[in-house]
Amino acid sequence: MSTDRFETQVIHGGQSHEPRTGAVMTPVFQTSTYAQEYPAKHTGYEYARTHNPTREALEACIATLEGGEMGIAFGSGLAATTTILHAFAGTPNLKVVCGDDVYGGTYRLFEKVFRGHGMSFSYADFSAGDLAAAIPEGTHLVWLETPTNPLLKIADIRQIAARAHQVGAKLVVDNTFATPYFQKPLSMGADLVMHSTTKYINGHSDVVGGMVVTSDTFFKTQVKFLQNAVGAVPGPWDSWLTLRGVKTLAVRMERHQANAKQIVNWLTKHPEVKRVHYPLLETDPGYAVAQKQMSGFGGMVSFVLDADLTRAEKFCASTRLFTLAESLGGVESLIELPAAMTHASVPPEKRRAIGIDDGLIRLSVGIEHADDLLSDLENAMQLSKR
Ligand SMILES: *Cc1c(COP(=O)(O)O)cnc(C)c1O
Repeated sequence: MSTDRFETQVIHGGQSHEPRTGAVMTPVFQTSTYAQEYPAKHTGYEYARTHNPTREALEACIATLEGGEMGIAFGSGLAATTTILHAFAGTPNLKVVCGDDVYGGTYRLFEKVFRGHGMSFSYADFSAGDLAAAIPEGTHLVWLETPTNPLLKIADIRQIAARAHQVGAKLVVDNTFATPYFQKPLSMGADLVMHSTTKYINGHSDVVGGMVVTSDTFFKTQVKFLQNAVGAVPGPWDSWLTLRGVKTLAVRMERHQANAKQIVNWLTKHPEVKRVHYPLLETDPGYAVAQKQMSGFGGMVSFVLDADLTRAEKFCASTRLFTLAESLGGVESLIELPAAMTHASVPPEKRRAIGIDDGLIRLSVGIEHADDLLSDLENAMQLSKR
């Protein structure tokens, strides 16, 4: 494994100068196939679903960042998740236990697509309660997001890995929110890490992509085979943009966090804000575990406005710099209302039961100047009163 530090790995990991010209940046190998010298005598590159040098550089780079042996890239985060589940196609009556406020699209994929294929899914709050009850004997796969979305709850990766392994289950951690800059699940016992690289890894809101990193023999064999056999691969341009985007991950994450801290400070003092979710706050229920397993938190903040759905909607529509949009993790600040947007596919009773109030607002704090972001929020507070 590389001894380089993270800031160096994001720039050099998995990459070497292109041998023919010395090009410093990995080129975009925009080709679908490769010439063979003689039937079945080739360079190792036959067809681009199977091998592409631009994609391979990205895979090796992210694998280095997560401290894993193999990176496997996909056309989206959900394509990565789909392929991971296909790895269990040979397991009869697959039992999956998943976090209860998991990304809405993951929930939809599990419930609306895979549930009908002999797989069963149950949901648990991994940040609280009895892990033995949440992960019973007979579980094959544990699907964990920490921090969760949008409540930013923190679950103890080491404890969950220990319980999963005790019952013979594999642990997958969706590390999209924290990124390997702040959290490295493989080092804490996870068997596989997945990413929506659409978010912080690429960081510029211009690519949809997914990534898996693993050192586990079952996953290395199966997911790598299925990347080609199922075929949900990213194109070379998207791989290249992501490779370019990830180079600034360390500096971006620092700035996202510095800005988020200022906004959190303002929110916690605001009389019209009922609750702020940010696990670096000492009063946050996730604080102690976050201190143990994360080296920072980054730019995701959620808070509950003391308001009904209508005013919350008005607030979200009144910001100028915070763009009203789904997604997160880009250089520009975004705002969204989970009850009406990202989590609209979760039934309302279930949504409220797990704490997604109508007034819950999620911010993806960008890297603009903090003072401009603060005045934007203050202004929206005034405008939404009218
Ligand atoms: C966006 C997201 C996904 C899905 O990824 P896509 O790239 O949109 O397919 C999965 N998990 C989390 C936490 C996400 O934020």
